[in-house]
Amino acid sequence: MEKKQYQLGDIVQMKKPHPCGTNEMEIIRMGMDIRIKCVGCKHSVLVPRTKFESKLKKVLRSNAEATEETS
Ligand SMILES: [Zn+2]
Repeated sequence: MEKKQYQLGDIVQMKKPHPCGTNEMEIIRMGMDIRIKCVGCKHSVLVPRTKFESKLKKVLRSNAEATEETS
């Protein structure tokens, strides 16, 4: 299994879509817990890191790549 790489500002896809129908979440805070914000309805949730990693499907857009292009 490959290790999932994610960081602050990344847009990620979870295994289960948000109830609003959107399956894109933005990582807005990282620590012991990770706060993710639904791109569709702007609702944010705080989840423990371990739970987040088990629910994470893939990283759709990496913030690191985006900032490299603009600088
Ligand atoms: Zn939503």
